[in-house]
Amino acid sequence: MWTDVAAESREVRAVADASTDPNAGRLFAAKQTASMNAARESQLLRDLNTLATFIDVYCKHRHRGMSKTPVALKTHDITRICGRDLELCATCHKLLAHAFVKRTRCPFDPKPMCKKCPDHCYAPEYRVRIRKVMKFSGRRLVLRGRLRYLRHLFF
Ligand SMILES: [Zn+2]
Repeated sequence: MWTDVAAESREVRAVADASTDPNAGRLFAAKQTASMNAARESQLLRDLNTLATFIDVYCKHRHRGMSKTPVALKTHDITRICGRDLELCATCHKLLAHAFVKRTRCPFDPKPMCKKCPDHCYAPEYRVRIRKVMKFSGRRLVLRGRLRYLRHLFF
């Protein structure tokens, strides 16, 4: 009987310690950071998927008849990001590689719209090209009701 009471009071103390333990707070913060990272990661993947879709649509319609090769990047697993393989002309392949690296390295959180970003990170030549792609493919995708997840990507 006496030992039960002692055990109980130890438990009570343990609970009290947990609520004032700075480590518990740190653990909570770490969990929060992890879930924020997960949210950022899934936003990133959606944006990369959108960029690939836009460039793919553009290349299909504007670069018909040009020789196309399967997209392979050292930096990203394109099949995982797009859910399928992608074939682009050499010009669009380069644009996609540039866009993927820039989007992945974007330091802003939350990410502003590219158009309103204080720091335009694209090389000027690529910026001109991606804007053409966004305009052309954006219009086509809107017409087909396939436009989602676009807020931060308007150039
Ligand atoms: Zn192309």
